[in-house]
Amino acid sequence: VKKVNLRGSVCYRFMNNRVPPHKRYQPTEYEHAANCATHALWIIPSLLGSSVLHFHSEDQWERLSAWVYGAGLSSLFIISTLFHTVAWKKSHLRSVEHCFHMCDRMVIYFFIAASYAPWLNLRELGPWACHMRWLVWVMASFGTTYVFFFHERYKIMELICYTVMGVFPALVILSMPEQSGLCELLVGGACYCLGIVFFKSDGIVPFAHAIWHLFVAVGAAVHYYAIWRYLYTQTVVLL
Ligand SMILES: [Zn+2]
Repeated sequence: VKKVNLRGSVCYRFMNNRVPPHKRYQPTEYEHAANCATHALWIIPSLLGSSVLHFHSEDQWERLSAWVYGAGLSSLFIISTLFHTVAWKKSHLRSVEHCFHMCDRMVIYFFIAASYAPWLNLRELGPWACHMRWLVWVMASFGTTYVFFFHERYKIMELICYTVMGVFPALVILSMPEQSGLCELLVGGACYCLGIVFFKSDGIVPFAHAIWHLFVAVGAAVHYYAIWRYLYTQTVVLL
């Protein structure tokens, strides 16, 4: 009996039971804390990283792209941390929590668009690229509108939207004549895709959502590195 109790209490601390698809998983106190910490940790580095890109900008396109990308990157971590803090400490304020949860989901679309912006704006790309420059923002706006009206209603649809938006612009990037940075882009993309497994594992794997956060952070770090290295600091050697 003791063993069962012990196991029960350990499970209760690190993971709660899985919930049916139409309900939201309730994290344990430890999971709440981990959800906040795993994104709060990246707020300062993302703000610093954004200013580094500003510092390296040489023309207005580079400055604009640095601003857009930096805003998307930092707001992802800031809004996610805010939402998880509210979900942890202020979950009794239902409508406030709901609002933050919607923002948490909306910002992902803008983060995806912002991650592509430097590549689409600063690289010489094929004839499709000029359309993709604005198309990513149209997709982000559609995604945001979708969240506003159907938040949490069709969860699988949400996941499909994120995946389409994440993968579709990559097809344009793949066609670019200059291939440097492609490897990092694919590695970062693979991190996000692997992370989805944990995003869907609440109540199966302890700390699943915090693990998903870490995959997002690593993917974002790899993408940042590629942008910093190949779009902002690469000096062209003319022979
Ligand atoms: Zn989260």
